[in-house]
Amino acid sequence: MKVKVAITRCDSYNPEPLEKAISQVMESSDFPEVEGKTVLLKPNVLYDAPPERCVTTNPEFLRVFVRLLKKRQPARILVGDSPGMQSKSFCGKACGIWEICEEEGLQWVDFTKDTLNVKIPGTKITKPVTSWAQKADVLISLPKMKTHQLMYATGGVKNLFGLIPGLNKSQTHLSCPSRQSFSKLICGLYRFAKPSYCLMDAVIAMQGAGPANGTPYPAGLILGSTDCPAVDWAQAVLMGYDPNMLPLLTELKKQGLLAEQAEYTLLDPYKEKLKGFELIEIREKTKFVRSLVLPFFTSSIQRAAQKKEPAPEFDSSKCIRCCRCVNICPPKALKMQQSGVERDINLCIRCYCCHEVCPVNAISIPKRSD
Ligand code: SF4
Ligand code: SF4
Repeated sequence: MKVKVAITRCDSYNPEPLEKAISQVMESSDFPEVEGKTVLLKPNVLYDAPPERCVTTNPEFLRVFVRLLKKRQPARILVGDSPGMQSKSFCGKACGIWEICEEEGLQWVDFTKDTLNVKIPGTKITKPVTSWAQKADVLISLPKMKTHQLMYATGGVKNLFGLIPGLNKSQTHLSCPSRQSFSKLICGLYRFAKPSYCLMDAVIAMQGAGPANGTPYPAGLILGSTDCPAVDWAQAVLMGYDPNMLPLLTELKKQGLLAEQAEYTLLDPYKEKLKGFELIEIREKTKFVRSLVLPFFTSSIQRAAQKKEPAPEFDSSKCIRCCRCVNICPPKALKMQQSGVERDINLCIRCYCCHEVCPVNAISIPKRSD
């Protein structure tokens, strides 16, 4: 089946160009029927960082999309996400999303309340997932275009990981220690949640040490499709990756979840790669060893293989002793000492959750030496 991915240029978060670009994308990509329906919007709020850091979906992008959505008369619009380290009062204040909910009369939903225990399709894993993923008639993924230290790129499918509330997410890295087993989990979540549409904020993307500590890159694009994996494929191409090298896209393809044919309208991404976009380095042999061989081994063997990846390094001069990294680390490999964070390299499974939650970029992932 042929799916449509609309990609439009948009260079700023000012309302006028945003409205023109987003409505063009919606009209060119079979936007789903929402009249009379409950719509759940899932922006990417990895953690509550100010919009200029580009960690989160931009609030003005959300506002303009919501205004266009309202014209299609949904019964109600809900907005929610759950960061890995979710405080009790979390509602997206610093990133500006809470303010948009207040001003536009949207209901913010706390994913930690009212969860379902879901056996994730295609895995042996059962996890709590927000019940709104099932109660809403229409789920729309609103990712930010960003690199990702573990998965190389995030996107519309990976954005669904936030449906699992709080620290439950980081624990999955113990049972899914390799990129391939983690990709299976995300594919299963995608099969469970079945988002109806994906609208990607790539007006200003994040390059380099994403998803939390990279730098802004003015990509000047908005992507939309009823098919999340097709948006992620286009994102990978635009960034300059070979999409066949990305574990999540490979797994989606293997499971028949990636459309065989996508029709890219308005812009041919194969000719319009983002110039000088800073990627996360992929080792060539990673693809062969990991994608063909590793999935047949137990999680302990996968974990041993993952340990060949570089371990995070901590800069005590930048550290503000917030202990987020210590609290999120799935195997408890980190301790706060007087001199700063101490890491037990033998326990570290290279999941990079610590790197994702550090608010001051005090954690870096060294380049691979081989
Ligand atoms: S130290 Fe960081 S990369 Fe290592 S296991 Fe803990 S959270 Fe994951
Ligand atoms: S998350 Fe960053 S700032 Fe906080 S304790 Fe860890 S290294 Fe330090």
